[in-house]
Amino acid sequence: MPQCCCHQRFRRITDVRDDSEISRVLAIAAHPDDLDFGAAGTIALWTGRGIDVVYCIVTDGDAGGFDETFPRVEMAPLRRAEQTAAAKCVGVHDVRFLGYPDGRVEAGIGLRRDLARVIRQVRPDRVVCPSPERNYARVGASHPDHRAVGSAALDAVYPDARNPFAFPELAADEGLAAWTVGEVWIAGSPAPDRYVDVTDTFPRKLAALRAHESQTGHLTDLDARLRGRLAASAERAGLGDGRLAEAFQVLETA
Ligand SMILES: [Zn+2]
Repeated sequence: MPQCCCHQRFRRITDVRDDSEISRVLAIAAHPDDLDFGAAGTIALWTGRGIDVVYCIVTDGDAGGFDETFPRVEMAPLRRAEQTAAAKCVGVHDVRFLGYPDGRVEAGIGLRRDLARVIRQVRPDRVVCPSPERNYARVGASHPDHRAVGSAALDAVYPDARNPFAFPELAADEGLAAWTVGEVWIAGSPAPDRYVDVTDTFPRKLAALRAHESQTGHLTDLDARLRGRLAASAERAGLGDGRLAEAFQVLETA
């Protein structure tokens, strides 16, 4: 397998790997709660099938919240605690925070190295990350932090994590060998091509989102709002009435 090849391109695949071939997943997000809005129903399915899932959250979401109920200085530790509790709702017990400031994330070399480090530590078969593309149909999905993290995550998948000559300090100082991720699932993509039926795990996804009390405590219609969005995805996927689905764009990256 080439370690570095200028002809290599990410490409869409229709034959996504079966979950039985997947041992570990690394789910990368910009903020606490992003994964719970975009992917927690799917992640609950994966952990239920025995797949180890690790979360890597780039910021502490310290610019989040809906009022001044919580003092700003307490927001970062509060949101870490909320994300850790939310992760447990869907079977995830390893949550890593990179501590970048909320609202100021750039897809620079530092973030690429930090994400390549986590990829080499976790050695995932599959990575989940946000989209680097702006979604003009859903402005909220295209927060600048999301796009920056999506861009850096894809750069970390290819070429940084797999190229032993990229960030040589990771190997020299930390003993982290190169690692090739097999596929990437982009959440919040403007061009989804993979729909996962999460009807059965929806209650766990909802519980995870409720764990983000500082973000969702004021949303009395959270259940209905989520059901509406997921039902629309299920309809696009032709899953039938009453079904709920999360949507992804899947890239083959091996
Ligand atoms: Zn976010």
